[in-house]
Amino acid sequence: MPNDTGLRNWRHGLFAAGEAVLDVFFPPRCPGCGRVGSTFCDRCQARIEPPTAPACIRCGHPTVAEQLCPTCRETPSALDRIASSAIFAHPLRDAIHDLKYNDGRNLARPLGARMAVSWQQGGFTADLIMPVPLHAARLAERGYNQAALLARVLSQSVGVPIDETAIVRQRATLQQAKLKAVERRENVKDAFAARRTDLTGKNIALIDDVCTTGSTLEACAQALRAAGAASVWAFTLARARWEPGYAGPAPDADDFRLSPASGGVAVRESA
Ligand SMILES: [Zn+2]
Ligand SMILES: [Zn+2]
Repeated sequence: MPNDTGLRNWRHGLFAAGEAVLDVFFPPRCPGCGRVGSTFCDRCQARIEPPTAPACIRCGHPTVAEQLCPTCRETPSALDRIASSAIFAHPLRDAIHDLKYNDGRNLARPLGARMAVSWQQGGFTADLIMPVPLHAARLAERGYNQAALLARVLSQSVGVPIDETAIVRQRATLQQAKLKAVERRENVKDAFAARRTDLTGKNIALIDDVCTTGSTLEACAQALRAAGAASVWAFTLARARWEPGYAGPAPDADDFRLSPASGGVAVRESA
């Protein structure tokens, strides 16, 4: 597999010329193991873990039925639910890592297609699909928003319009690791703003690659609800596995993860 920077840049140039051309020179590969194929190979497909079931429809805590857990029932939220296509674990975890950090934007198609299958299986509906925005500085650094790439594929596949500009990340958030749950909520509070004002009555599906504790999704949802959205829920490619010690449906998604070493507290990923 060619790997030098020049060739990769050349490859990205070719994207503009059409993916059909790319397929001839660079056949699509399994996002999990790299073997040639249009999507996850059978072996990787079999290893992807479906979401825990039954579980709380918002925080993912294992429950006896698909409904809000007692904690979530007591905790007001702008999100009706958080659904995911799989557990954040190998091989999906590796594919998401490549998508975000190894310039793997070509993985958005098979990963977005996977989300579309889960969406249809779940019988989900929305008036609008909205990717969680990156802060402008992060977007400039990475060159693309992985959530937007996934949301575009999903939007095309399920026939729900996408809006990539209605919500903006108006400030970068602080490192959350050392903050308590309440402080984390404060940290991402007002980090997002809705620019569209005609959201009244809309059922909006927020899209992201990974949900950890859900606070970024919650902050986005609050901005959308404040702009008049009738309902907001979130759909992510993957979701962190529930870990004992994790104290509830509070703050943080996106670039945070749960670490056993931190006692189940959400900590920020290095990149
Ligand atoms: Zn594979
Ligand atoms: Zn819950």
